[in-house]
Amino acid sequence: MFDASPDALLAIAEDGSIRIANAAASRLFGVAEDKLVGSDHRALLSAGFRNEVAQIFRHLQGPEPVQPREVFGVHSDGTEFAAEMAGSLLGSPDGPLLLVSIRSTSHRKAADADLREAMSLLTATLESTADGILVISSDGSVAGFNDQFLQMWGIPPELLEGDSGEPVMRLIVSQVKDPETFTRRLSEVEDSPDSASQDVLEFKDGRTFEQYSRPRRLGERIVGRVWSFRDVTPRRKAQEQAQQAMQDLAAQAEQLRALAFQDSLTGLANRAVFNDGLATSLREPRLKTVDVLLIDLDDFKEVNDILGHQAGDDMLVEVARRLRGCVPTADVVARLGGDEFVVLLTACPDADAIAACIVRCLHVPVTISGTVFRPSLSLGIASAGSEAISPSELLRQADIAMYAAKAAGKNRFLRFHPEMMAALVHRTNMEAGLRLAVPRGEIYVAFQPIVSPRMGQVVQFEALARWDRGGERVPPSVFIPLAERSGLISEIGEEVMALGLVQLAPWLNEDPSRSLAVNVSGMQLQYAHFADGVLRLAEAAGVGAYHLVLEVTESVFFDADPSLIRQLSSLREAGVRVALDDFGTGYSSLGRLQELPVDAVKIDRTFVSMVRTGEERLPILSSMINMAHSLGLTVTAEGVETAQQADYLTALECDSLQGYLFSLPELGSRLELAVRQAEQAIDALDGRTGQA
Ligand code: C2E
Ligand code: CA
Ligand code: CA
Repeated sequence: MFDASPDALLAIAEDGSIRIANAAASRLFGVAEDKLVGSDHRALLSAGFRNEVAQIFRHLQGPEPVQPREVFGVHSDGTEFAAEMAGSLLGSPDGPLLLVSIRSTSHRKAADADLREAMSLLTATLESTADGILVISSDGSVAGFNDQFLQMWGIPPELLEGDSGEPVMRLIVSQVKDPETFTRRLSEVEDSPDSASQDVLEFKDGRTFEQYSRPRRLGERIVGRVWSFRDVTPRRKAQEQAQQAMQDLAAQAEQLRALAFQDSLTGLANRAVFNDGLATSLREPRLKTVDVLLIDLDDFKEVNDILGHQAGDDMLVEVARRLRGCVPTADVVARLGGDEFVVLLTACPDADAIAACIVRCLHVPVTISGTVFRPSLSLGIASAGSEAISPSELLRQADIAMYAAKAAGKNRFLRFHPEMMAALVHRTNMEAGLRLAVPRGEIYVAFQPIVSPRMGQVVQFEALARWDRGGERVPPSVFIPLAERSGLISEIGEEVMALGLVQLAPWLNEDPSRSLAVNVSGMQLQYAHFADGVLRLAEAAGVGAYHLVLEVTESVFFDADPSLIRQLSSLREAGVRVALDDFGTGYSSLGRLQELPVDAVKIDRTFVSMVRTGEERLPILSSMINMAHSLGLTVTAEGVETAQQADYLTALECDSLQGYLFSLPELGSRLELAVRQAEQAIDALDGRTGQA
């Protein structure tokens, strides 16, 4: 039995010597049994443990039961090992012996170390996770938690040391926004111990936690529940911001949509809204009358060109404001684009009265950029009763009536009438005809002499375009605006200049002081090669550039791009002169004159016609002439029809005169006649003054 024991057994005498040793002891210490017997047992123990046996001896004699002791033994190869040692007293004939059993505990220590390692890993993990963790046992007591849990919930650690979970629970519940739901959820989870849970907790202070729990198992048994809490406030805030951004975007889209229906300058509805409204109101069956009032401002282009786009915009805004005031009951008041507006009325008892009111209201003076304007407009009305008509047809009728109002002298309204169609057809035909006028050779030139009263002779001719449309003479006041609108003016202008130069070349070349004046539209100056073209035509005709005068109106200079100014400058450098036509009729003041790159002015015939008896005082005429002279410009007066006018202007030292008094515009073949008539007229003036 002694030798069969798995534990090492030693019987030790009071002096410490070994009396008996078993096989296990021999194995444990690596010493043969016969060597062990008789040796001192202390050699088998590490330093520091060599008194252990003596102590066990002493204890065994006391009343207390003796616990096994942890010691370190020494193997014969010198290695130490952990062991557990217990002892009991044996009686023997030679006195008391101590029976000591020794069991190596090295394997147990290794397991302990593994456990400690695992524990420390777990603790480190628990403490480093951002989640708060709380472990509850089945009996409701707290089995564990991490620091994060305490921090997240603001729980003082001592609170968890107490036996009751009550104060902790109170603290927790006091923080959530909806305590009822929270506690209800807790008891639901408590009632089904094997369920997992997932909730979102809103805190009173604005934080948001995600709360998870799952059962804590030991093998198959459920021994409690693990709770984890995650602070998702930043994530939720980011989500909220993203949501806000989405909402802002949606609002912006809404705004953009509104803009799509609104004219951004005037705030009126736009064309799309009008089209929509018109289509709706014309839908069958129709019980109400529908009136479309189409409005186009008169001469708006001038305001825009002369005073600039800002003034033009101000004007449009003011017109829109007045328009809205005139028709508070309108279904739609829209700006169709440019200076075109439209009013849609349904079931209106008297659309004509409203149209009259619009014309009147709009004509009230307004100050824009320091200049007083009386806006005026042409308005066309088209109405639909019960008969079927398409929206586009009704709008077309209003458009035709509007054009008729313009043709009838502007600043008025006209109601559509089927006869107006004829006028439209005529206008369309006219444009088609004009397109072919130059290729067909229908454009020719009339020359009107311009005389110098001082020199008593013709010094210049103005070339005036003429159109012979298959035997019918279309006046320039009709076809020139049409040519400007349709872009044909460049071709026609070039034709007039070419014909004029060729026909006048012999007369011009007789005297270097003679010149030919040609009218030039603003649109022609937009072409980059205009200046080159002019010089080429002069050269082709064998005429020096200094013989040429270009007549332009002041609208050409306002809002002019640099290329246009460059074109005129290069022409002036080549010797060509520039005259300001229709001077005094535009919007610009006399003061602006000095800024313009011109050499001469032509005083418009409206000022000349103010001279009737020749006895009146007309300071405007004298200041225009003096002003131009002080700027070094020469002055021509247009439309001189009477001797009184000629004398009056001559007295004001006007440099040259043009008008029916001297000669009508004549064909190139009748130049000599024109010159003779003109010089006779001068002589007659001289004779009269001579007599007087
Ligand atoms: P404008 O440049 O002011 O030309 C003078 C106009 O006054 C001419 O009319 C001429 O026939 C007319 N006229 C001359 N003397 C008198 C007079 O004593 N009394 C009256 N009441 N009128 C007189 P016309 O030929 O009908 O030309 C009208 C306008 O057409 C011209 O006005 C000019 O602006 C434009 N125009 C004519 N030819 C051309 C051209 O080749 N190119 C361009 N761009 N415009 C042209
Ligand atoms: Ca002219
Ligand atoms: Ca003129």
